[in-house]
Amino acid sequence: MTTIASSMKTYGNFIDGKWVPASSGNTSENRNPADNRELLGIFQRSAGPEVNLAVEAADAAFQKWSRVPAPRRAEIIIRTAAILEERKDEYARDMTREMGKVLKETRGDVQEAIDTAYYFAGEGRRMFGLTTPSELPNKFALCSREPVGVCGMICPWNFPMAIPSWKLFPALVAGNTCVIKPAEITPLSLMNLVGAMTEAGVPPGVVNVVTGHAHEVGAVLTQHPLVRAVSFTGSTEVGRIIGESCSRSFKRCALEMGGKNPMIVLDDANLDLALDGALWGAFGTAGQRCTATSRIIVQKGVYKRFTEELAQRAQTLRIGNGLDESVDIGPVVSKTQMETVLHYVEIGRREGARLVCGGERFDTAECGHGYFVEPTVFTDVDPKMRIAQEEIFGPVVALLPCNSLEDAIQIANGVNYGLSSALYTRDINRALEAIAALDAGIAYINAPTIGAEVHLPFGGVKQSGNGHREGGVGALDFYTQWKTVYIDYSDRLQRAQIDRPE
Ligand code: ADP
Repeated sequence: MTTIASSMKTYGNFIDGKWVPASSGNTSENRNPADNRELLGIFQRSAGPEVNLAVEAADAAFQKWSRVPAPRRAEIIIRTAAILEERKDEYARDMTREMGKVLKETRGDVQEAIDTAYYFAGEGRRMFGLTTPSELPNKFALCSREPVGVCGMICPWNFPMAIPSWKLFPALVAGNTCVIKPAEITPLSLMNLVGAMTEAGVPPGVVNVVTGHAHEVGAVLTQHPLVRAVSFTGSTEVGRIIGESCSRSFKRCALEMGGKNPMIVLDDANLDLALDGALWGAFGTAGQRCTATSRIIVQKGVYKRFTEELAQRAQTLRIGNGLDESVDIGPVVSKTQMETVLHYVEIGRREGARLVCGGERFDTAECGHGYFVEPTVFTDVDPKMRIAQEEIFGPVVALLPCNSLEDAIQIANGVNYGLSSALYTRDINRALEAIAALDAGIAYINAPTIGAEVHLPFGGVKQSGNGHREGGVGALDFYTQWKTVYIDYSDRLQRAQIDRPE
């Protein structure tokens, strides 16, 4: 990868196809959360001037890119997928070093970008519009999808390549140009992705990356008058700020935010399967997924057995550096994140929930320089407790007893969030009843709350989203706008609603 300095460890912003330093001269370090002595790179701490340059470059590039036929744009996305496939392991390793999750998961993250690329490249030859009869004779009516313009994208750190790919590939195939900001602590994976896209032939100015801190870059980007659409993934608090800011200038705005995702386990469930799902859903990515299973609502007949076995299995998970293939749980992403998670453990204890395993920082010898937290299980949690209501974003799961499916659904829906949900049962009637009743954008039956596939719409209700969807047709709807066309070939004035020919 080209860098702005001779040291391979200093990265510029990527603006108009060039590596550009922050005009302030400020930079930030990118360190490994499994061992904070390891420095992965120095990244620009940018601000307004770099955002302005990037948006202007994207605006200029839009004129040409939006006119490239969509199937040609798609070919570049296909070439990107091929490069990502070739470098999957290398990029996965960078990602594990950058944000901590274990290799099998970071390989999955790169794979998600590859899948997204192939899916949206297919749209280059579809992107269907519609035709419909006119109410008047000799008149033709149709709608086609057009690009929106310059898109601003603000990304979180938990899926540092997959989430940018969800935003960039549909936006590009539809003919938009982009300015994208990674989370301040995971810029490398986005640089890897954009490097692959550039190598595949994405022209200068079509994708621009500006690295830096929250409002110093993000806020300027969302307020820029040339930005026509903003796609954000992150916390509900920041989503609210961005939504408000976009509405002032009537920008299209998609918000993917937090979750407090419930898994319901009924008495008739395959308990082993539910336990496997609970471990994966709660502790995969060290619990740092917006769809993580953070509440498990268990029917009383199996509650005791389920809680005992979950605690026992959680304690057998291997904690350590995610580069070690035998490790199950890597570190959380940063010191701040670790402190937040441990603070929630303290809150849970004070609220009177029963801590049955974990709850501590894990800092034995080789983990002493990282931010590891033991997988943590609280039982006998009351639905009103903060640990049952607030997103923790760490390896902490709350178990709540319930009497019936109705009771479970009431508990499941009794939070401000509505992203993902899951139910374990062998009863098809109860499963279908629950699918309809669960107030969430995603429902899994006999699988945990995580595991989205890229060709289906992804997103939540209530404070988890604002009605848009990523993935599948949802993304295309966001990154295109309809042009409605009427072609009158009657050679006379025809008035809709007024002239009503036989
Ligand atoms: P997380 O807790 O996962 O980091 P945040 O919502 O704090 O979630 O951050 C998600 C992304 O939003 C990051 O890229 C961050 O820099 C950016 N961000 C934070 N605050 C703002 C803001 N006021 N305006 C625009 N972007 C922001």
